[in-house]
Amino acid sequence: NGPFDQEVDLLVVGSGAGALTSAVVASIEGCKQVLVVEKSDRYGGTSAMSGGGIWIPNSHYARQEGVKDSPEEALQYLKAVIGDEVSEERLTTYVEKAAEMLEYLARNSRVAFESVPYSDYYPEMPGGKEGHRTHQPLPISAKHLKEHFLQLREPPPQVLVAGKLTMTMKEGRAFLTQAKGWMFTAVMMALRYYLDIPGRLKGKRSRRLTMGNALVGQLRWSMLDRGIDLWLQSPLESLIEENGVVLGAVINRNGKSLRVRARKGVVIGAGGFEHNLEMRKKYLPQPTNPDWSGSQINNTGDGIQAAMAIGAKTDMMQHAWWAPSVKIPKWDRPYVIFAERSLPGLVIVNKAGKRFQNEAAPYLESGLAFYTANKPDEPTFPSFVVFDATFRKKFPFGPIAPGYSMPDNRIGKRIWDVLVKADSIEALAEKIGVDAKGLKETVRKNNEYAKTGTDPEFHRGESFYDRYYGDARTSPNPCIAPISEAPYYALPIHPGDIGTKGGVLTDVNGRAVDEQGEVIAGLYVIGNSAASVMGSKYPGAGATLGPAMTFGYLAAKHAAKQQ
Ligand code: FAD
Repeated sequence: NGPFDQEVDLLVVGSGAGALTSAVVASIEGCKQVLVVEKSDRYGGTSAMSGGGIWIPNSHYARQEGVKDSPEEALQYLKAVIGDEVSEERLTTYVEKAAEMLEYLARNSRVAFESVPYSDYYPEMPGGKEGHRTHQPLPISAKHLKEHFLQLREPPPQVLVAGKLTMTMKEGRAFLTQAKGWMFTAVMMALRYYLDIPGRLKGKRSRRLTMGNALVGQLRWSMLDRGIDLWLQSPLESLIEENGVVLGAVINRNGKSLRVRARKGVVIGAGGFEHNLEMRKKYLPQPTNPDWSGSQINNTGDGIQAAMAIGAKTDMMQHAWWAPSVKIPKWDRPYVIFAERSLPGLVIVNKAGKRFQNEAAPYLESGLAFYTANKPDEPTFPSFVVFDATFRKKFPFGPIAPGYSMPDNRIGKRIWDVLVKADSIEALAEKIGVDAKGLKETVRKNNEYAKTGTDPEFHRGESFYDRYYGDARTSPNPCIAPISEAPYYALPIHPGDIGTKGGVLTDVNGRAVDEQGEVIAGLYVIGNSAASVMGSKYPGAGATLGPAMTFGYLAAKHAAKQQ
């Protein structure tokens, strides 16, 4: 209690895509003083490091491409995938309001997207589509961010080519699958990068912002247009609540705790708890390790804990946006394996040398399988991805580029700390401590499936989605090829994540609710600080950022109307 040090209309905690959407929309809707506070010395959070893809059904961008979609079809699809884990009211809000949010931002801000032919993750389910619900942000030049460019969180190496060239989602797919024209695309990208002489004089970082950097960059640019304040290194400490109403928050700035009054409300968009070991141990399946998470380290559940401290209800706390990852010792963050698992000529095996999943499945399912298939006699901790010399020559896997551009003698020492190579499957099994008989049998079966084109065990390559990142030149199944050419390779692989899914339960306007289901006035929670509107599932690429932005938009519109 005591006087306030500062007063604003809306206080936004965190600077991911959802939080910045709230800030921009609140300003457009008439809030004069909007303040964004960010814990770290960079803005953008994991959103800035991401692919920047958003899953928005029935958008005006998709209509421009001639795609037919509707809220009814999208709802049918979400209900088929998610079941009754999430209230129909929230799902309906999403399918109706997400497209509205995108059109609103296109009209009123610098945010600009295009729909991409990226398949839903379960296109065969009722209401599913084989493309154009996922959208990618259009690239922008860093010059629009002026001196604020260097405070934008850097993209991780896995969304860059050769550690420096930025790419769009479309370009990324062309490289991975070596689709027609990929060499030309690569040359153009390199030229664009090296011909940016002023940029190169300033440093290595590309000024062509794509993916998550483009999305956060577009939002930051919109904030600059509107004069919205952003404080870096200013973490939320606690919420200020009186008689069940949130009046503001305590923010630490320059080592001092400031009491900030937020007249219209506080929006928490401070990410999940993926980097809080205690919370992971308490809520997530075991074993668990923050080092397997591809998210940045500042998401330690602060926003969720602050809301819980004033009685907010949580949901979905045992779930994460799972995605297998490969951890290289001493690298600050693991490589998340989104798409390479669909390429032909690899298997993921447990300690018994047996497969336990459809390797080409969407990443949430693939990551979750490590837990559901973990048995005392066939442990999945550790598991290994195994491939042969043919795969190695042609395709990338995590931090390892294809052999034609990164021969074995150019693979870094750190990677060799975990990458294992042997002349036979038996020798490989021995080196990684996996049952040799089991692994030989698995490889034999894989080679059989490569001939027949069917995987009767796990159905790899059956879904349109599996084949999206498969190799079109491999037949009869673009996701299965023989593992038969020495040397053989193995890499340890873990059930990583790209953030947690559990958080504060909210209503259709992103307002937090308490244990009795009553709204907590003045408190909005969005992004991974909120319980996911997608339940425990992952319906399509962009299903984390799409809801973060949509509920960020709805929260800001609601808050702006408050007195
Ligand atoms: P964040 O974007 O992480 O933002 C949270 C911010 O809050 C951070 O900046 C953090 O520092 C700050 N913060 C934390 N605590 C405090 C505090 N106490 N006070 C103030 N600030 C605080 N998802 C998609 O939908 N599409 C994709 O294409 C996609 N690609 C991905 C690619 C990669 C490599 C990774 C790692 C993830 C990807 N994801 C993608 C997942 C997505 O990036 C995250 O789920 C999403 O960014 C979460 O958004 P958020 O706003 O909740 O958190």
